Amino acid sequence: MGVRTSEEDRVSPLWSQRARDLEPYVPGEQPQIPGLVKLNTNESPFGPSPKATEAILAAAGDALRLYPDPRSTRLREALARRHEVAPDQVFVGNGSDEVLAHAFAALLQQPSPVRFPDVTYSFYPVWCRLLGIAHETVPLDADFRVRVDDYFERPGPVIVANPNAPTGVAIGRAEVARLAAGRPESAVVIDEAYVDFGGETAIPLIGEFPNLLVVQTLSKSRALAGLRVGYAIGDAGLVEALTRVKDSFNSYPLGRAAQAGAIASLEDEDWFRRSLTAVTRNRDDLVAALTRLGFDVLPSAANFVFARHPRRSGRSLAAALRERAVLVRHFPAPRINDFLRITVGSQSDIESLTRALSAILATPEPG
Ligand SMILES: *Cc1c(COP(=O)(O)O)cnc(C)c1O
Repeated sequence: MGVRTSEEDRVSPLWSQRARDLEPYVPGEQPQIPGLVKLNTNESPFGPSPKATEAILAAAGDALRLYPDPRSTRLREALARRHEVAPDQVFVGNGSDEVLAHAFAALLQQPSPVRFPDVTYSFYPVWCRLLGIAHETVPLDADFRVRVDDYFERPGPVIVANPNAPTGVAIGRAEVARLAAGRPESAVVIDEAYVDFGGETAIPLIGEFPNLLVVQTLSKSRALAGLRVGYAIGDAGLVEALTRVKDSFNSYPLGRAAQAGAIASLEDEDWFRRSLTAVTRNRDDLVAALTRLGFDVLPSAANFVFARHPRRSGRSLAAALRERAVLVRHFPAPRINDFLRITVGSQSDIESLTRALSAILATPEPG
């Protein structure tokens, strides 16, 4: 491996102005540390449906020489069945990150700035900068809740993660309906990456609100983060706008294995139910363990919790945990600097985390 240079040193005249101006999203790290307790990127502690794995293996044959169906017709039909909508109300992409990026280009770039919470998925401002989209943030309330009324002060499109990330706090379907009804002239995008763990999906509202787009993913609740499949459900007019962007960018975002694996996963309702039950039970155990250790934990409808300790900084706790091979996510950002975002892991992950935190809290904070 060559000598690592800082990013500054690598900037060269070969770079476009656009590349120079970017401030890329920094994903949670994926280090190769043996015995690592990995609670930093909200992956599932359980494997995907074995039926999905089988379908992926079955797709790995001679047919790979052929391009996949560019419109993922069978997958869109499976999603339409599952969510009781029409196939032309379904858009699929290479992870919901890609679907969301297309939504920014297709729907959220408008004369008025797009608005989203001050504390939310930190990819949103990154896409705004990439695409040259003006944006404004709207503060969450003191309890880190989205207040729908605060979005009525100005016109323009809105994107809200529900349950929100990294807080895990959710709003109800009636609140989403009020948001969509309050700005019929603008797109309202709801990012439901975590909805299956305890949120209320807005998909039943799409017939009533042609400005509402709901984005979901198979990465979290279906344990397929490595397959990269996400989707959006909304009025066929919104889906058509996304498709135009997709076909101007990459016509084949989902390979054959991804389409086959996703369909098989959607058909395995039994695995899905059991997996969700296990995650929510473990979430209860994680919240109880953290509360016993003195943490304040926000009410979570997701597969992670957002917690702070009254006597320890988030940064020092995350660093001390990392020394004990436990990875959690810390965001050095206003309002949430004291918090840790901790993925709901397996029972053994929760035990390892609890043991490490007890040891850390028993010694004085360094520095
Ligand atoms: C994980 C996540 C996504 C992206 O998931 P994909 O793996 O790209 O489908 C989108 N939004 C939020 C809020 C997330 O946490």
